[in-house]
Amino acid sequence: MAEVNSTTGNLPGKSRFDQVLGPKVPGVITTSKEQLFGMARKSSLWTLSFGLACCAIEMMSTYMSHYDLDRFGVVTWPSPRQSDVMIVAGTVVKKMEEPIRLLYEQMPDPKWVIAMGSCATNGGPYYKSYSVVMGVDHIIPVDIYVPGCPPRPEALLYGIVKLQEKIMQDSKSNGR
Ligand code: SF4
Repeated sequence: MAEVNSTTGNLPGKSRFDQVLGPKVPGVITTSKEQLFGMARKSSLWTLSFGLACCAIEMMSTYMSHYDLDRFGVVTWPSPRQSDVMIVAGTVVKKMEEPIRLLYEQMPDPKWVIAMGSCATNGGPYYKSYSVVMGVDHIIPVDIYVPGCPPRPEALLYGIVKLQEKIMQDSKSNGR
């Protein structure tokens, strides 16, 4: 059987962070575990991939190369089991109430919800329609509301940044 050998190989170069801040930052930093976890969580948000209506097109374009949500550590994920953010992008019709609630309950804690667009916020153009829920917060708790019909990708990006700020605030104040 062939033998597999390993050598020291190439030494990795210093990262940009090491080059710029390395000499200035002390080797040991103290913080609370809540803030450490908060920093990790806000920098690696996994958003559940699903869309309900036209706002979903804007959400998809936010993931594409021009806006590049990856640089915020945001990964879109096809299962609720590993996702921690639900972006409700589109009109919440009444027949989708149960599936949305089920998906939310399948997500592990801690988890967050962004209501993207007027429809998800309060029914939008379908306000008081017989078939539309007047905001997804009638079904599940919402952390961030992004206004617009539809909101542009920049608005969703801003919503993500506000969510990251909220996660850090919560980690300082209530240990989540
Ligand atoms: S807010 Fe406007 S763009 Fe978004 S789902 Fe509703 S109607 Fe469509």
